[in-house]
Amino acid sequence: AKHQGRNRHYLFHDQLKQNLIDRLSLLEDLREACNTRAFSLVYQPQWSLTQQCWIGAEVLIRWQHPKRGAVPPDQFIPLAEREGLIHPITEFVLERALKELTTAGIGRQQLATLSLNLSHTVLINEAVMNRLQGRVHSHRDGQPDIIMEITETAAMENLEATLSAMEYWRAQGMRFSIDDFGTGYSSLARLKQLPLAELKIDRSFIQDLPEDVNDAVITQAILAMAKTLSLDVVAEGVETPEQAQFLKDNGCSVLQGYWLARPVPIGELTHILAHTIDL
Ligand code: C2E
Ligand code: CA
Ligand code: CA
Ligand code: CA
Repeated sequence: AKHQGRNRHYLFHDQLKQNLIDRLSLLEDLREACNTRAFSLVYQPQWSLTQQCWIGAEVLIRWQHPKRGAVPPDQFIPLAEREGLIHPITEFVLERALKELTTAGIGRQQLATLSLNLSHTVLINEAVMNRLQGRVHSHRDGQPDIIMEITETAAMENLEATLSAMEYWRAQGMRFSIDDFGTGYSSLARLKQLPLAELKIDRSFIQDLPEDVNDAVITQAILAMAKTLSLDVVAEGVETPEQAQFLKDNGCSVLQGYWLARPVPIGELTHILAHTIDL
């Protein structure tokens, strides 16, 4: 029995060691990917119900690992945030997106806004924000307006710092959006303090609409609240026509999700923008 216990101990130890090796090698590969800019971008367009047109797109990063295959951003973005790699990654995403849109001839006429995911550590880093701001301004007029998305949880974890950074950059012309809204615990009073252009209702509230009564009530409450604050609302993760209809009937302004369009490389974005949505 003693002998077996010893084996188990070693087994456990080996497992821990393997996990650590995996994490370290992923980090090493991520550093390498940052240096060689081995990422690509996809764009998911957003349909405006109020204006009956494609109004914007969210840019999302992709990493094709030579051995592991596609590594989802949910796996490497948190690592990049912990290791300080998120700063160069964010600069890369903005720079590459602006370049790709310009090359594809997609300007403000075709797409009013481009949404970029912004980690909280980036928002509160003045040097990096200055460079992001510079990138936006160095591009020619006629490009889409940039909207920076910050998750509700990140924004609320450090409300004072979020508030002062947002106010500062808002005055410099940046626009902000609260992402994954409803998953955190913001009060209306606190939300009102932030200089926001829009709210994005988290996918978890959308996925079981319209059947799930709780989600329906929560979604209606968010839409009513946003209306009193004069905020546009983007519903994300819209996968069915029933969800889209429910959101339309309840005054949602913008829809994003697989039912409208999947995230696609720049070359396919033009094709999607040529089609309209029947709703
Ligand atoms: P997010 O900002 O909430 O992005 C929306 C995610 O939902 C994307 O996953 C998108 O592909 C997916 N999605 C869109 N429509 C649907 C739908 O109808 N159904 C379902 N099931 N999913 C849908 P993705 O691209 O894997 O990104 C995951 C998360 O990684 C993002 O969540 C965001 O937090 C982060 N992320 C992605 N790109 C970047 C980036 O460039 N910078 C930063 N800081 N974070 C990023
Ligand atoms: Ca987002
Ligand atoms: Ca989201
Ligand atoms: Ca999310």
